[in-house]
Amino acid sequence: DAVEVKHFIKTIIENDLASGKHDRIVTRFPPEPNGYLHVGHAKSICLNFGIAEEFGGVCHLRMDDTNPEKESDEYVQAIKESVEWLGFKWDGAVRFASDYFDALYDYAVELIEAGKAFVCDLSADEMREYRGSLTEPGRESPYRNRSVEENLDLFTRMKNGEFPDGSKTLRLKIDMASGNINLRDPAIYRIRRAHHHRTGDKWCIYPMYDYTHCISDALEGITHSLCTLEFEDHRPLYDWVLDNISIGCHPRQYEFSRLELMYALTSKRKLNQLVTEGRVSGWDDPRMPTIAGMRRRGYSPAGIRLFAQRIGVSKSENVIDFPILEGAVRDALESEAPRVMAVLDPIKVTLSNFDAAVTASRSAPFHPHHPEFGEREVPIAREIYIDRDDFAEVPPPKWQRLTAGGEVRLRYSYVIRCDEVIKDADGRVIELKCSIDHDTLGKNPEGRKVKGVIHWVSAEHAVAAEVRLYERLFTEPRPDAVRGSDGEYVEFLQFLNPESLKVVTGYVEACVKDAAPETRFQFERVGYFVTDRHDHQPGGKVVFNRTVGLKDTFKA
Ligand code: ATP
Ligand code: MG
Ligand code: MG
Repeated sequence: DAVEVKHFIKTIIENDLASGKHDRIVTRFPPEPNGYLHVGHAKSICLNFGIAEEFGGVCHLRMDDTNPEKESDEYVQAIKESVEWLGFKWDGAVRFASDYFDALYDYAVELIEAGKAFVCDLSADEMREYRGSLTEPGRESPYRNRSVEENLDLFTRMKNGEFPDGSKTLRLKIDMASGNINLRDPAIYRIRRAHHHRTGDKWCIYPMYDYTHCISDALEGITHSLCTLEFEDHRPLYDWVLDNISIGCHPRQYEFSRLELMYALTSKRKLNQLVTEGRVSGWDDPRMPTIAGMRRRGYSPAGIRLFAQRIGVSKSENVIDFPILEGAVRDALESEAPRVMAVLDPIKVTLSNFDAAVTASRSAPFHPHHPEFGEREVPIAREIYIDRDDFAEVPPPKWQRLTAGGEVRLRYSYVIRCDEVIKDADGRVIELKCSIDHDTLGKNPEGRKVKGVIHWVSAEHAVAAEVRLYERLFTEPRPDAVRGSDGEYVEFLQFLNPESLKVVTGYVEACVKDAAPETRFQFERVGYFVTDRHDHQPGGKVVFNRTVGLKDTFKA
């Protein structure tokens, strides 16, 4: 395993503990419940909860729920489930920004009373026009100099529902000439009659993200507020708000770069589009880069945590290729998953000299290095299946599998020789007639070397399984960053991979039949597979999802 490099945020925290600035670290993970969490959130979760774990502190889970139209309890539940599944525990109850609506309102009144906030009647378009640009200072709103009394009255009436949606905002009075556009009298409240998933219809005004976030952090006694780089130039506003209200806590914000994963999307809005347009089966479709999707695909929490550790935390661009994620997933599964044999593209093999009286079965361990996983019987019978890939009538150089007239060992069983190849009218191999060397169970054959070992299953004992073979969802490494000849972004849906799902019937050792949903296996020599969380029925229908192959075989 790569040695974990100490990242800059850990250094900051160590220094803050050493200097006595803090004696306990409090972090938070603050998702907006407007979708399921994705692999980018997993990075942030591992960072925030990981720091709390490492430094003996705590991490809060806070739903940043200030946009009622887009948020729902379904998403709240899915977010909780994803964080728990990754193996993290938040401190106390789940928190909600909406828990602080009363406090946020009171601080807004305080700002008005101090002459630091005003009610503005400019429309959204006018406000944008007044705001100026990077090269041009903004202009002050004509409503900026309303008296404190008038502002208090108007803000109360905004809250009481006397004005239509969008007709007024509450704005901070900072500096319309600031080089940082975020400080040009930002709006902190807007009027919006929308039903909120927790506060119902109590409010028709809602606080804005920048105002809400810093105060929520301070109310919770957060020490280090870690967020992605696009918030770097919001930090002066974060600090301004906390410096200008009577709150006894001032968390410090630090920024790190967002994870971008090639061949995936890390935007809830675009993922939502895939779901609502039916391009995938749901938020937890195994091809989705959501935590729920990765879970259903068979990734383990340890694999995702290993991935987060390997990609690290920094301020530089964080575009990660898919094999880095798959490599971490594979490395974790190596020791986590019991191994069985499965044949996904079968050729029937008839063992002509099979004799139930002398042809013995053996038991085999589920894992070569984990005896605690136990053993199972690997039964043999007259008819078995091997994988089509393991037979070549005309073998290429260095072939170590089966060929006409050649020998190979059946894993955990005998050496067999191929005596006859049977084909259909089109010349496709449909059956092999082979014979068993009965003197090779658990020992080398006399006087010759047989190097190849292949996997197989007994046709009569194996269970037929629906096996879903997933490929990546997009054909482009950055599907949402491709520009056409006109310089405009090309619709990312155009790059959906039409071959991202193939369903086959495979034959798997019978012991998987009773496995619970979400049991991960290695199919020897094939890859890692998981029983589907929803569709696999123990003792009934067997359904597997391919998690990842054994080697990185992806070619761009
Ligand atoms: P999206 O655009 O997907 O909705 P978001 O940043 O708006 O992303 P939030 O729910 O607000 O989503 O994110 C919660 C936390 O997760 C934030 O602290 C955010 O910085 C972090 N986060 C979101 N996306 C990523 C990412 N790609 N890489 C790292 N951290 C991320
Ligand atoms: Mg957000
Ligand atoms: Mg968002």
